[in-house]
Amino acid sequence: MVGEMAKVFVTNGRQKKLILGHPWVYGNEIDRVEGACSDGDAVEVVDFRGRTVGTGVYNSHSLLRVRLLTGKGGAITPELIAERVRAACRYRDYVLSRPGTDCCRLIFGEADRLPGVICDRYGGVVVLQVLALGMEKYTQVIADTLLECVKPDCLLLKNDDPIREKEGMDCFVRVLHGEMPGEVIVHENGIALEMDPAGGQKTGGFLDQKDNHLYLRQFCVGKRVLDCFSYAGGFALNAAAAGAREVTAVDISEAAVSLIRRNAQLNGAEINAVCANCFDYLREQVRAKERYDVIVLDPPAFTKAKANMASACRGYKEIALSAMRLLPAGGVLATHSCSYHMPEDTFVNTVLSAAQDLNRRVRVITLRRQDIDHPVLAGYPESHYLKSLWLQMME
Ligand code: SAH
Repeated sequence: MVGEMAKVFVTNGRQKKLILGHPWVYGNEIDRVEGACSDGDAVEVVDFRGRTVGTGVYNSHSLLRVRLLTGKGGAITPELIAERVRAACRYRDYVLSRPGTDCCRLIFGEADRLPGVICDRYGGVVVLQVLALGMEKYTQVIADTLLECVKPDCLLLKNDDPIREKEGMDCFVRVLHGEMPGEVIVHENGIALEMDPAGGQKTGGFLDQKDNHLYLRQFCVGKRVLDCFSYAGGFALNAAAAGAREVTAVDISEAAVSLIRRNAQLNGAEINAVCANCFDYLREQVRAKERYDVIVLDPPAFTKAKANMASACRGYKEIALSAMRLLPAGGVLATHSCSYHMPEDTFVNTVLSAAQDLNRRVRVITLRRQDIDHPVLAGYPESHYLKSLWLQMME
């Protein structure tokens, strides 16, 4: 089988990151391809001397020309894919055994060594997305293995991400098993959340902040809390559950704000949900001389490319400056970046420079990351994308 695969020769030097576990070969890292291969085919990646680096799937239409599945030679088989899905599900038992938790990411693409495959579990509903052409033919195997491991009431194939068109695939949504319930309520550390897996953002929810949502609680007892870029209200609901005195959640999307209101009602929480641009809202609050004890900033990725780094930093700094002005001594700021192009130290230095500009001393409480169901694969730094910096204003 190995002999039948085309050989992709990477340029000298580029094999190193691959040997250390990086799963992507870019088009400009390829010296030549020997043998016939069509888009979606399995190929053997070799170094300039022809030594095997790994086996992956090829797509001439993608910037990521080859996505590696193995670190050695050998065929990519349905059995290998099924075993990867099983291993991914087994690892998530850690998260699903948390009290009051029935939602998590089950498959996190490359980090679970299933390139371009994303799968989330929302209670009885499992949502699968296949974003790499070479994995498309394994959709049924992946689905069957998920049914075997998770036994969901419904399995939804949500192949509507526009990335699929770039990979040369069509966009569609299809129920593969069971029936899509009209309403999906999931539980995260005992908090009920309404989700919209069929519509919604991404696969319908933001699961990567579960552990940070919970972490927030300890700072909120009896406090005035502001949750900026709130989406479904994850941080706000946890603040309320902890016994905050007053909770405000702000999001620019009308749909998100009504979701926050419904989630507040579901949990019997009192949350002041505001539809506004957080940049403006924070500035207005500063002008009005408002004060908060705890502020969360969790904006969308300001940069999807390295080229926008400077403007992304300005964005992070601007909201950090406003937030710090609203926080008196003792106040806590939890600030996030979910762009993997933003290196952790750049993000931390950007936020800390806001405190320096204001001549305020801050305590770095901790530096956290995405929840463990979005695992980080060693050798693949892109899988560590969420930075979560927690500060306390000391003066
Ligand atoms: N904090 C959420 C996830 C936030 S995702 C959680 O813990 O689950 C980012 C959110 O920011 C989205 O809901 C999006 O609608 C919102 N958003 C984007 N730009 C915004 C802006 N300028 N002002 C306010 N909200 C914004």
